[in-house]
Formats: sequence, C-alpha cells, structure tokens
Amino acid sequence: MISWANYHSHTQYCDGATLPEAYVEEAIRQGFVAYGFSGHASVPFATEWCIPDARLAQYLQEICKLKEQYHRQIQLYLGLEIDYLPGQMDHLKRLLHGHPLDYSIHSIHFVDSFDDGRRWNIDTSREEFDAGLQGIFHNNFRMAATRFWELTRQMIREETPRIIGHLDKIKMFNTNRCYFDENESWYRNQVEETLQLIQKTGSMVEINTRGYYRYGQSDLYPGRAIVSRIAELGIPVVINSDCHAPNEISNGMPYAAQFLNELNIHKVMILHDGIWKSCPVSEKGIEIATPKA
Ligand SMILES: [Zn+2]
Ligand SMILES: [Zn+2]
Repeated sequence: MISWANYHSHTQYCDGATLPEAYVEEAIRQGFVAYGFSGHASVPFATEWCIPDARLAQYLQEICKLKEQYHRQIQLYLGLEIDYLPGQMDHLKRLLHGHPLDYSIHSIHFVDSFDDGRRWNIDTSREEFDAGLQGIFHNNFRMAATRFWELTRQMIREETPRIIGHLDKIKMFNTNRCYFDENESWYRNQVEETLQLIQKTGSMVEINTRGYYRYGQSDLYPGRAIVSRIAELGIPVVINSDCHAPNEISNGMPYAAQFLNELNIHKVMILHDGIWKSCPVSEKGIEIATPKA
C-alpha cells in the first residue's frame, strides 16, 4: 500500500486553524494510513501558540477519543511538539504525569532571553529575530547560531527525543544568505558535532516541508548539505508537513521524497501498528507493507 503519513500537526488547541477532527477527515480522504497530532506543548510562561496548561488534559482526551472513534478508518497517534527549555522541563513532565504519549517531537523555538527576561523566539518574524540578534548577541550571528546548536545538543543529551523537529530552524530568516553562508566552516562544525551526537543517541530527524509550501523556500528543514550528511551517517528520517490547517497535511511531501531520493535516502520512518518502521519512499508516497489476509 502506498500512502503518506504525517506526525507534525497543529490544531485549534495551539496555533492551528481548526479542531482535530477536520484533520482526521482530510487524512482519511487522502488515504493516509497513519496520522499524528503534535500540538505545541504547554510552557511555563505565556505564549500565543502553546496549549495553555488548563487545556492540555482536554487536548490529550480529545485525541484519544478520536483514536477510538476512527480506528477502523485510520491509525491516529497522540503526540506533542515539545519546546526544549533548559532547566524548565519539569513543568511539562508534571502536567503529563499519567498521560502517556505515543511519540513526541522536540524542537527549539526559544534561544535564551532578553535583559527583561522575555524569551527570544527565533521562529516568529524577522523583526523579532533581529531584535534578539541585536539585544542578546550584539548582532553576532555566529554567536547566536552557535548557541542554537549548543542548545540542540543539550536537548538531545537530556531529553533523547524520539523525533527532532526542524533541526536547522536557525536559518529561517537567512534569505539570500543575509546573515551567513551555511558552508562556513564554523557552521558546518556545529552541524557535524550535532549529527554525530544524533547518530549515537538514535533520534530520528524530521524532514519538515513547511518552509517549502508556506514560504516558497526550495530548501527544507534540514537543508540539502545536512541531509546528505544524514544519508552518510544512516540517521533515520521522518517526513512531516508541520501543518496548521487540514488542507496542508500532505503539502510538500512529494517534493520532500524527491529531495531525499536525490540525496540517496530511499527509506523513511513511519509509526504504524504502534511501532516505528522503515519504509521505502518515492514521490508517489510511502510503501507500507501490510500483512496478507
Ligand atoms: Zn516548531
Ligand atoms: Zn510545529
């Protein structure tokens, strides 16, 4: 059977467009065999895009209810996109106590804080990006990016993520290489050290298509150079759309498959029948072996 699968999606519980059920219906309509929800997990400070503490239990319950309700049509999985916040991970662990997840995606959206204690979000707007670059790192991009990669490694060591979300997010606003060139040796060294660590710890790296379909970027997260090194190191990958609306669930997936195939990756991981499996991938989709009846 050939199908797509997506494990990175945001609904109305965080910053997505609508209720989870609409994503399920669209995934069934598109013939997905598996679909996962990964709302932005609660963080110990106010944001406009994370699931508020008070709504987390309801989110978990609703996805569990949908799993039951639709189990004959599609396999649904309960996850979260978890922000790595050094020294502050206990907040979420307390909230999740007694609520097992099927998987989680660990991502970095926050890098250190401004003098007034406000977190620097590297993922909102160019204005915010530039404000943090100047206010925290004195306009030294190399220092900021080095800090980003250090935090990424700290996250991998401390949390051993199942999936690492948009691994090279720090390049988001680097259009026309306005901040740096990804080929600079200091940057390549940061990437290499991180990939070596990932290879040792066994996390999967997400191939995230959102920049491609939403902002018209030809490179994905992570970019070509990083993915070809991932291929050499044999690190497992999973294709995700990071969708925020039902009509985005499979956006960019054929492109990502072609991108991977060109860089010598011919298999991706999918969560199916409750386990992660490595399956052949092409522009047409992921080939999932189904047991003969
Ligand atoms: Zn994210
Ligand atoms: Zn996301």
